[in-house]
Amino acid sequence: MPVHELAQLTWEEVRDLDREHTLVVLPVGAIEAHGPHLPLDTDVVIATAMARAGARRLAARGQAVVILPALAYTAASFGAAFHGTLSISGITVTALIVDLARSLSDHGFQLLALANVHLDPEHLTALNEAVKLGRVDRLLPIIFPDLTRKPWGARLGDEFRSGACHAGQFEGSIVLAERPASVRDKIRASLAPNPSSLSQAIKAGKRTFAEAGGPRAYFGDPAAATADEGSRWIEALGSILEEAVSAEI
Ligand SMILES: [Zn+2]
Repeated sequence: MPVHELAQLTWEEVRDLDREHTLVVLPVGAIEAHGPHLPLDTDVVIATAMARAGARRLAARGQAVVILPALAYTAASFGAAFHGTLSISGITVTALIVDLARSLSDHGFQLLALANVHLDPEHLTALNEAVKLGRVDRLLPIIFPDLTRKPWGARLGDEFRSGACHAGQFEGSIVLAERPASVRDKIRASLAPNPSSLSQAIKAGKRTFAEAGGPRAYFGDPAAATADEGSRWIEALGSILEEAVSAEI
């Protein structure tokens, strides 16, 4: 089956889709500081790559899929003090996703899947709330594989598992694979690893990257990133999306 980008279609082409059997994927990113070497839209780039990889896999199994334009704004309070980070409240994000799900339901689509790698706690709460509210309102099912929950995170390598994972080897590799021109590569190669674990800092009640031990808004090992590794992580993220959706249809 082909994968469509919804925004590139005309309304008559959408009318003629078998919408009852068509999945919708929404990439959800952020505009947030990602070290001195990656652009603010890093999570948008990664979520879009995840959405496309997941859609390709589902389409190969005969599933019709459309991908929505990415949602670029969300809660990003950990990075809010860094220039350029645009953090909005989690309530706004929940409301926006539920409203989108309502509109997609009205048009008769089968299911909405969220492709997301932005792990700010307020943001994750917002997405999980949208899933719940969609259920309460009997909208189309909203599927959200939360990478901080089992079994997903264990598949994304040592750095991801350690929690020292923001603009490091994992995310840097994916941006190198997906949009290499936007990586400030000389700076990236010069950065010392930062092994401070964001996930442990969050558990300990820290609320910003600086408090968590990331004064330049990166965690992990940016210099170790490679495009080859990034391609593998994109496929791993795509297979997580594929599996989470397949469990629901
Ligand atoms: Zn990120």
